[in-house]
Amino acid sequence: MKISALVTLSLLLASCTLRMDGASTPRPDLTATSSRCPCGRTGPEATLTASQRPATEVPVSASPSLPVTPAPALPSPTAPACDPTITYCIESGHFLLERPIALPATMTIDPSYPYGSTQNGTRQSHHGVEFYNASGTPVLAAADGVVIVAGDDKEGATFSPWPNFYGNLIVLEHRLPGINQPVYTLYGHLSKIEAQSGLNVRAGEKIGEVGASGAAIGSHLHFEVRLGENNYDSTRNPVLWLKPLRGEDSNPYGLIAGRFMDAQVNPLHYSNLNVQYFPDVSAPQAAAYPLETYAPENHPLRGDDRWRENFALGDLPAGHYRISYIWGGVLYERWVEVQPGKLTIVTFIVK
Ligand SMILES: [Zn+2]
Repeated sequence: MKISALVTLSLLLASCTLRMDGASTPRPDLTATSSRCPCGRTGPEATLTASQRPATEVPVSASPSLPVTPAPALPSPTAPACDPTITYCIESGHFLLERPIALPATMTIDPSYPYGSTQNGTRQSHHGVEFYNASGTPVLAAADGVVIVAGDDKEGATFSPWPNFYGNLIVLEHRLPGINQPVYTLYGHLSKIEAQSGLNVRAGEKIGEVGASGAAIGSHLHFEVRLGENNYDSTRNPVLWLKPLRGEDSNPYGLIAGRFMDAQVNPLHYSNLNVQYFPDVSAPQAAAYPLETYAPENHPLRGDDRWRENFALGDLPAGHYRISYIWGGVLYERWVEVQPGKLTIVTFIVK
């Protein structure tokens, strides 16, 4: 089964590569060992130039309607080197924050408007994530910290893009292990504030209640993570900071994050990345997730200092994932693995 799947995929690749660019596009070796990524220090872009660019994605077919090719066998990540532009890297991440909402309320992040999303151009680029819950639901401190804002932004503030954007809000400042800059968490649209500026709070302590104050559509908690400064331009994707939830098998979920870039290795805004979940190599698709890369805007959406990602997807069950997209009329795909409580890093460079 695995061998025949690989043969099938290889034939598809062989038939498509030449048509793609008429030249000797190197083909990623899908049987190559995926590996733990030692690439921590600077992120791949620091070492890539246009002339050094590795093979880009594998063209599969000009027609997206063809059946999904079976997942290739993905060996355990044990090799000492890792190139996320060809395969994927498994990393530990820095999941240092608790959920700001606890059971029995909804602890999951709303998938329709993730960090960096514009909801297909209908809204401004999102600098946080949403936890949709009823007004009055307790809001909890995500980590030990100090309250530096507890009030509203009706008069405007340096930490807010315009007056009455967050409504009633709280900002906490944290010192987190292994992070050499202050980390801030912001809790917006609250109906009630139960924190006082200047006081310490403990992780999990109730600091307010969910509401719909400010520029909110419905009652929810808007949650942000900011790094270095309490500034609207300093946000980071909260899914890369929050401890993953646990699935039905009690294992923590994993995540996928990465970079989608043009031939000059600049981040691209792209709304149609498709992520499909297969619990194992031979299992049928169990879920699909649309994915949009971070949208450009006046207030830049920054990737993590380490991974420089411009897309991320959290709370994913362990298993095999097919990430695909259409570029220049050609369908490309990459298979990656997600492990419990780990971060899968992958990079796409389109031509
Ligand atoms: Zn929001």
